[in-house]
Amino acid sequence: MNDSPRAILHIDADAFYASVEQAADSRLRGKAIAVGGTSRGIIASASYPARARGVRTPMPTSQALRLCPNLIILPGDFEKYERFSQLLFAYAFDLTPEVEICSIDEGYLDLTHQPQPPRDSMRWLSQQVESELKITISQGLATNKFCSAVASKLKKPANQIEVPAGEERAFLSPLPVRWLPGVGSKTEPRYLQAGLHHIHQVADLPLSELEKIAGSSAPSLQDFAQGIDPRPVIPTSPDPKSFGEQETFATDQIDETYCLAVMRAMVDRLCRKLRATGLAARTLTVRVRYRDMEDGMRADSLPEPTPLESEFYPFLQTLLRRCWTRSAPLRLVGVRLSNFHTVLPQPELALTGLPQKSATEKLQLADATDQVRSRFGNQAILRGHDLWLQRKRSAGESEGDFHSQPSKK
Ligand SMILES: [Mg+2]
Repeated sequence: MNDSPRAILHIDADAFYASVEQAADSRLRGKAIAVGGTSRGIIASASYPARARGVRTPMPTSQALRLCPNLIILPGDFEKYERFSQLLFAYAFDLTPEVEICSIDEGYLDLTHQPQPPRDSMRWLSQQVESELKITISQGLATNKFCSAVASKLKKPANQIEVPAGEERAFLSPLPVRWLPGVGSKTEPRYLQAGLHHIHQVADLPLSELEKIAGSSAPSLQDFAQGIDPRPVIPTSPDPKSFGEQETFATDQIDETYCLAVMRAMVDRLCRKLRATGLAARTLTVRVRYRDMEDGMRADSLPEPTPLESEFYPFLQTLLRRCWTRSAPLRLVGVRLSNFHTVLPQPELALTGLPQKSATEKLQLADATDQVRSRFGNQAILRGHDLWLQRKRSAGESEGDFHSQPSKK
């Protein structure tokens, strides 16, 4: 075992969507601009001049315009952001193959085994991205993932912070507890009520006391607070990250309704996984396989990324019909979500009265559903197609013709 400290670099683009718009159109540079506000009525990204006027993400567009009446609002062009993201990570891959892409504009690089000093790599990356892509990134260099991520986000924009080996705990100590993983707007009050305002208080608390607040995650939370994080950088292939599921039927299918119900249930599970990881996806791919093993595949992209299954449902039937072109039964269907973006946190403000509030409400409902399911099991809440599938399958089992199992890829 090699005990020399690791060199983990976290990169995080600054105001990514807004910066890409400014990079692509020089007339927008230096101005108060924001992206979003169209379908959801919420600002998704704001330039620093807009932030200086109080514009934040997520914030209802109407409020942003009150704070900053000459704010230039652009609809999101997510294809453009994905292209920029690929270019951004191409520079990261020039430094090391050990790059873990976390979202469209964030990722970890493990520079431990690279010949050049990590600090030089950090500087080179900032310079390349700024001169070639005309956007800026903030970076954190540390011996582990957590410290590097905090360092990259501590003083944006265009900042580089290095946490020397051995100083992880001291670096984290004075920061507010909300920097810890799992401490968010919903859980932070519990920590404050217990008198835990800063990370060093969590680091020093007897574990049994911390368990009363953090439950079973207390040990890992205390590790984080003490600057300990053994998680490895898990290299992402340069192909886009995706979540997928497929199912091989025990009996080949000609029933489109049944196939659609199976695929909807897949989309439900995949979106639940998205929400659990704070991601939203934009692209849906449907795949079929015929009895003779010929495959068909079709994909389509939503104009905006979403973590909601209901927004993918309308595409399922169209895509299925576009790839199920032969009048032959199917032995397999599969669904894949890709083109991941970071999902916006929930606006703190009530959005009552806004015409677009339904997207926010849907997300809140989805989150509540996820919580109930993780507590009481998947059967606790069933959608229409789940019930339909359950009935169809139990009927099939008694007749002996349905034994399909979700297959792991
Ligand atoms: Mg960012």
